[in-house]
Amino acid sequence: MPELPEVETTRRGLLSAVKGQQIVAVTVRRHDLRQPIPKTFAKTLTGTSITNVRRRAKYLLIDLDSGHILLSHLGMSGSFTVRKKAGYRPKTHDHVIIELKNSKLMVFHDPRRFGVMDIMKKGEEATHLLLKNLGPEPLEKDFSPRYLAEQLTRRKGPIKPVLMDQKLVVGVGNIYASEALYLCGLHPSLPAHKLAPKAPEMVNAIRATLRAAIASGGSTLRDYVGASNEGGYFQHEFKVYGRDGEPCFACSTIIETCTHAGRSTYWCPQCQPIRAKAQKH
Ligand SMILES: [Zn+2]
Repeated sequence: MPELPEVETTRRGLLSAVKGQQIVAVTVRRHDLRQPIPKTFAKTLTGTSITNVRRRAKYLLIDLDSGHILLSHLGMSGSFTVRKKAGYRPKTHDHVIIELKNSKLMVFHDPRRFGVMDIMKKGEEATHLLLKNLGPEPLEKDFSPRYLAEQLTRRKGPIKPVLMDQKLVVGVGNIYASEALYLCGLHPSLPAHKLAPKAPEMVNAIRATLRAAIASGGSTLRDYVGASNEGGYFQHEFKVYGRDGEPCFACSTIIETCTHAGRSTYWCPQCQPIRAKAQKH
């Protein structure tokens, strides 16, 4: 599933490839994504020019000079790539094809069709059904240690699912919640309300894990905007995620796993003790 770093990489790839370009034709091959693509979609987009590509949580917001915004989400399996028109043949799950004046195509590909393609107007970001309940961006200033500490004191459950709550902070998915807790030496089952004093370390760890993933995505940026590439997701070097039964890179203790709120969680019992002995790397 594309997480925030993949979406941010997609955003950067799209921005560099399509900013300033005019949309000359739009083909919707399937309307039935997670929610139906609006019937006015092609007509609204055609003839407009792309002024910016932004991101809010895992949504892409493509600004158009008409004052409309193309709102997109990659869902479980989606990709949004740019390729040359010459030689392009639509594949089975290429649901939306946007043709640009420079003879390139933006292709939205989504085998599981959990993605979103919607149109909204500028200024509707705060009220749009999909965007209005989102918490702060993890890499922006309003996700501060003070904010996190204040939020944590109100939550009694284990810290891992709390960090994944999109109302608390957006874009910290299953992978990055596990990785960030490892980085600050906190067991994922510790009760959130007792960890307020650790908020500064947690904010730093969340940002560090996301930034590292975005940086590694940068090296595969070409895959997202290439002429023929499918735009698969890049693999990061994870410290604990998906490594149960394998030794910790720091202390060689075997990584353990359990389930929180239906999602797999991974930790090192030595580096992330359940008792607050505050062992640090
Ligand atoms: Zn360890």
